[in-house]
Amino acid sequence: GQPRQCIKVKMDSQLKVGFIGAGNMAFGIAKGILPGDVLPEHVTVSAPSSKNLERFQELGVEVTHSNEDVVCGSDVVFVAVKPLLVPLVLTEICQHVTNKHVIVSVAAGVTLATLEELLPENSSVIRLMPNLPCVVQEGALLFARGTHAKPEDCALLRSLLQHCGLVEEGPEAWIDIHTGLSGSGVAFVYLFAEALAEGAVKMGMPSALAQSIASQTVLGAGRLLRDSGKHPAQLRSEVCTPGGTTIHGLHALERGGVRASVMSAVESATERAREFG
Ligand code: NAD
Repeated sequence: GQPRQCIKVKMDSQLKVGFIGAGNMAFGIAKGILPGDVLPEHVTVSAPSSKNLERFQELGVEVTHSNEDVVCGSDVVFVAVKPLLVPLVLTEICQHVTNKHVIVSVAAGVTLATLEELLPENSSVIRLMPNLPCVVQEGALLFARGTHAKPEDCALLRSLLQHCGLVEEGPEAWIDIHTGLSGSGVAFVYLFAEALAEGAVKMGMPSALAQSIASQTVLGAGRLLRDSGKHPAQLRSEVCTPGGTTIHGLHALERGGVRASVMSAVESATERAREFG
């Protein structure tokens, strides 16, 4: 339809993207955006300190100390400062935000209602929750559209983020769940990987080797799970020979209550995210 065509034209040549804040999240998203159609010279990043901007310069993007310059020179603006700084930053840029802008906040716990209140009336606002593996283009990102975000704004965001990983849209209430599942979930998987390796060390394998095999096991299991589209229980049963090693190990995990622990971990992290919101 009409909007898509319009997006295509913009994506090809002239779309300008800005980042306010030059931290890890901005870097991860910028790295994911650059393999797409956006030219590095059409990306601008701002932060008060030059130190934080150095690695962005290596990506070939423009850097500045002025948040206002980012807004004035961009169509899509990612707000990627710490949540406590969001009110300050939005108040600062407010007068430069027009109806051509799409403002995308990645700040944890800052609601669409708060963002919309701090920006001019009818501003197109999207709340995006990425996770750390964005930096290797394997993020899991969930966004929720604000009251005045148009379908074509969401389509534009999706195509911008296509190289960042999985991008899904949902109601704002799911953002906190996504934080527990995927933002914090990354750390849960790391704990599991660490424990896998320690089990092997306990059985006599050198630690460095155990760690590299554990990380490859997590990666391989994850890719197979995603790419096969199968339910995890299905894949699990496929590696379970009756009376074999895996079912013995799984029994030990179930005895340890790993299923309930992991569910509680997602629950606790979600509840904590809700307290911030
Ligand atoms: P960070 O501390 O690495 O980056 C913050 C950046 O903001 C720094 O570059 C800093 O120089 C800059 N900054 C500080 N004051 C500023 C100002 N007044 N104007 C412009 N820039 C300013 O933090 P981060 O981990 O990248 O997190 C950024 C946001 O992303 C947070 O709101 C966080 O909730 C959200 N987030 C982070 C993750 C994660 O895994 N790191 C995941 C999801 C969401």
